[in-house]
Amino acid sequence: MENTKKKLSIYWDELISKKIPSYVNFQKIEDEIKEHFGFLRWAFKRIVLPIAIAYILAGIFLFKMNVLGSLVIALIVFLYSNFLPDTDFLIKETKNAESKWYEKYALLFFAPVIMYYILDGRKKPLYTKKGKSFHNYKTVFIWGVFLFIVGAILWQEPIKMAILPIFGMLGFSFHLMIDGRINNFLSRNLVKHFLHNNSPIASRRQAKS
Ligand SMILES: [Zn+2]
Repeated sequence: MENTKKKLSIYWDELISKKIPSYVNFQKIEDEIKEHFGFLRWAFKRIVLPIAIAYILAGIFLFKMNVLGSLVIALIVFLYSNFLPDTDFLIKETKNAESKWYEKYALLFFAPVIMYYILDGRKKPLYTKKGKSFHNYKTVFIWGVFLFIVGAILWQEPIKMAILPIFGMLGFSFHLMIDGRINNFLSRNLVKHFLHNNSPIASRRQAKS
């Protein structure tokens, strides 16, 4: 037992030191994920659920079709989009190198696959001069366009094509709101309301800033 544990810890250290880029900070990622999950749970009931119900009702009464299948996919995309912006932690900040735009958007569109190759050391890291590449309005829009194309491949009905970009962009925006990257009247009030109801996170935020 003791021996197994020792072997495992050696293996783990090897894995960390060899496979994972040294600029990746795991503690920071873990904290961020916790914070985003808190907001997600809170906002789901108040924003996502009403949209989902309206979507089902519109499907039944206006379009006379069953939209449940597309809703399930949209909800998965929503959840995924809440964490997607942070995949830009794999784009290393430097002073003198910039990866091509399509390399960066390949990471955005096919994150699990590209992440696998970067972490496995089989793909050279991505570089940027500007810092967090996916934490901006422009990326929300590009992500929405991509999802619209995916929706148009999956379905013919306009109502179903619309639901993927709506939920995907909503999820992506939620992430940017919590990070403080989207800062308008609506998001300020939303985040304020959330923090008011979640004091542990509020105190952590204050400690950070
Ligand atoms: Zn973030």
